[in-house]
Parts: sequence; C-alpha cells; structure tokens
Amino acid sequence: MDISLVIPLLNEEESLPELAAWIEKVMLENGYSYEIIFVDDGSTDNSWKVIESLRLKNPHIKGIKFQRNYGKSAGLNEGFRAAQGEVVITMDADLQDSPDEIPALRNMIMEDGNDLVSGWKKKRYDNTLTKNIPSKFFNAVTRKVSGIRLHDFNCGLKAYRHKVIRSIEVYGEMHRYIPVLAKWAGFNRITEKPVEHRARKYGVSKFGLRRFVNGFLDLISITFVSKFSKRPMHFFGLWGSIFFLVGLGISLYLIISKFINPETFALTNRPDFYLALTALIVGMQLFLAGFLGELIARNSVNRNSYLIEDKTGL
Ligand code: UDP
Ligand code: MG
Repeated sequence: MDISLVIPLLNEEESLPELAAWIEKVMLENGYSYEIIFVDDGSTDNSWKVIESLRLKNPHIKGIKFQRNYGKSAGLNEGFRAAQGEVVITMDADLQDSPDEIPALRNMIMEDGNDLVSGWKKKRYDNTLTKNIPSKFFNAVTRKVSGIRLHDFNCGLKAYRHKVIRSIEVYGEMHRYIPVLAKWAGFNRITEKPVEHRARKYGVSKFGLRRFVNGFLDLISITFVSKFSKRPMHFFGLWGSIFFLVGLGISLYLIISKFINPETFALTNRPDFYLALTALIVGMQLFLAGFLGELIARNSVNRNSYLIEDKTGL
C-alpha cells in the first residue's frame, strides 16, 4: 500500500464528507493505493455515523472509535498501529490542512529519502493574538531544546516513513513533539514543507489557551524523560549527593567550632546551621526521589491509559 492517512477527530461531523471526497479525488488522480483511517476520539456528535456511511461508499475508509475522549495523541497512536502504507500521512479532520499536499509530501519521503516531513503553516489562518504569537515562541524554544530545525512542530499535516511510526509511541499530549520523538528514536532526516493552511470552515477549535501551558510542561518532561527516564538515579543521585555533602560539610564545621569555643558559640544563632539543615534534608529527598524513580522505571510498561476493550473498529 502506498499511503495510509491517519486522521484523528473530535466532533467534526460537518467536515468529514468533504474531506473524504477531496482525499479520494487526490488519490485517484495520482493512482495511489491507500487507506484512510479515521480515529474518532470520543465524539459526541454524529461523526461516527458519518464515518460508517462513508465507509459504505468507499471501502478504503477505515474507522477506529474510542469510547470517550482520550486526546489527539492517543488517536494518532492508535491510527499508527493500524496503518499499513509505506508512507503514513497525518492530517487534521477540520479541513484546515489541504489534501492537495499529499503527493509532494509522499515524494519527499520516497524520492528524497526523508524519514519525516512536517508541514509548515507559513501563512496561517488562525487568530493572531491567541495562537500565532505564542506558537512562534513555543516553536523557538522547542527548536533550541531539540536541535531540530523546524518552524512549525505542531502542524497536524505530517508525512512519515512507515518505519518511523513503528518506532515511536505518542502518549499524553506528546503529539506536539512527534519530530522530537522521531529524532530520539534515531531518525535524522527530518525536514519541513511549507503547506497551504485554511481557515476552519465548520465546527470549533478543540484546544484552548491551555495548550501553551501544557505544551511547555510537556517539553520540560519530554527533555527530562528522554535523558533520565531509564536512569533517574543519575540525575537525582548526583544532586542529592551534592546537597548532602554540602550539608555534611557545614555541619562538621559547626561541630568543630563548638568544640573549639564551647562557651561563646551559639549554634542556633548561626545562619549556616539552617543552611546545613536544609541541605541535608533536600539532599536526602532528592536521593529518595531517585530511588523511587528507579523502581518506577523498572516497572513501567504501559504509558497509554486507554484499554483495548475501550475501542471498536470497522
Ligand atoms: N482532536 C482530537 N482529539 C482531541 C482534540 C482534537 O482528535 O481531543 C482533533 C480535531 O478534531 C482535529 C485535530 O485534532 O482534527 C486538530 O484539532 P483542532 O483543529 O481543534 O486544533 P487547532 O487547529 O485549533 O490547533
Ligand atoms: Mg484545526
């Protein structure tokens, strides 16, 4: 199979027929063998019914449905597991991404040898104040932290070599950092393509301003997790030891001073006494966090919270 399209959606009933027809047209024009995997992320409108009826008309359309809303990342992850095409393309369901970009994206993978091509909404049709400006900042920080030269990490339109989606697990809200996950999985040919972006025609945006707060917290944790999740003691143990040794050093100094000068030395009047106390406690806490981290790291198997029973397929 040439192409798998993975399309996560939440309450997008109005957009789906138009999107499916447009994709079908592009696929036919180019003679691709393909599948469209719609992942219904717990929609409460008629999206699933629409998908069922679309499938009756076009057997290339497949559907996965979650019992409740698990988030875009879980949707993508589940779509990735089902995808069979040698190139896998993800796209938002709201018609903001254009299916006309598909052939060029596929060529950048199959002919130019890239592993991942990310869309870049160079000209964006979203609210400037609440989206575009924070997003510039967000992308700059992610570029800096990850070392990947992309302008638009969070673009829903992306193309992957099949091997890439097999090697990564998208969980939590990590869909914003798939290029970073791919890089850490060992794929270095990551590039971008300016893509057409359109204003939302139907429905409403599913992500509010919280995306930026959550996005940055995720960036911190993803950086930490990538470096230390397999060896938490290397981080916590190091800082724990440093704090503990500093505390111990000051304590020894205070004890010696007390022996030298037993009458005039008032321990609790000394600021360094409190410093020693704090450093010892903080050091021990960090050490403890390191030990607990090691125990957890050894036992973590399933980071995705949804259950197999919780989804139905077409
Ligand atoms: N989406 C989803 N689950 C969610 C939130 C969003 O599957 O919990 C889908 C949504 O239906 C759309 C895509 O993710 O297909 C992007 O969402 P949206 O268009 O609301 O984001 P924006 O374009 O405003 O960044
Ligand atoms: Mg959108």
